[in-house]
Amino acid sequence: MSRVLIVEDEAHIADGLQFNLEAEGHSAQIAADGETALDLLLRRGERFDAMALDVMLPGKGGFEVASDLRQAKNFIPILMLTARGRPEDVLKGFASGADDYLAKPFELPILLARLQGLVRRREWMQHAASDAGVPLEGANEPKDGTGQEFGEFTFDGRTIDFGNLELRAKGTTTHLTVMESELLRHLIKNRGRVVSRKSILEKVWGLREDTDTRAIDNFIVRLRRYVEDNPSRPRHLLTVRGVGYRFEADQK
Ligand code: CA
Repeated sequence: MSRVLIVEDEAHIADGLQFNLEAEGHSAQIAADGETALDLLLRRGERFDAMALDVMLPGKGGFEVASDLRQAKNFIPILMLTARGRPEDVLKGFASGADDYLAKPFELPILLARLQGLVRRREWMQHAASDAGVPLEGANEPKDGTGQEFGEFTFDGRTIDFGNLELRAKGTTTHLTVMESELLRHLIKNRGRVVSRKSILEKVWGLREDTDTRAIDNFIVRLRRYVEDNPSRPRHLLTVRGVGYRFEADQK
């Protein structure tokens, strides 16, 4: 059972969502604007497993709420509700810290599935990480003899802790969102090989191919700030022109 925060000013949408989440055994709370959501999460420190965040809100909009949360080091999984036919909203949403998005008007079962996907991923990562000795899953995992386990991956003085959604480097700890961590895991699992943008959308986000792949590029820019000494001259997270990306643990 999960606790979900719904940030939506249109009462009929918010109520419908709350009703359906509760019918599925979750608990759901509604915040009718961004300020109320920030107050609950940051000032009152209330804990939720995920949030559905509308872009169009009175006062502070969804993008601003997401980036305020991330700046305050709150890493609640965020499903952003965007307007259909506005791909720039999707890109802006990911850039401001959203983990996933859904275009309005949406079908309720899809929204519930997406929210549950975010909650499950987070729980699953935390379980897997505490289950010491389980290797990185994937049949094509390179046998490099490093003994890297699922929970952590160390390269070039950096350690990614997938269970705690953290990256530790040179005495500092950076928190990762669920999807930042999932994307890193996908690239690392396939390290040494080219991963296409399309496969990232499908495997990491579970999205169809009609999604704008620039969303991925936005995430890569963010990840480079974490894994590169000089993000403008990447040596681990490499661009493969016209195709996608390749992760190298050893500097090239
Ligand atoms: Ca709205």
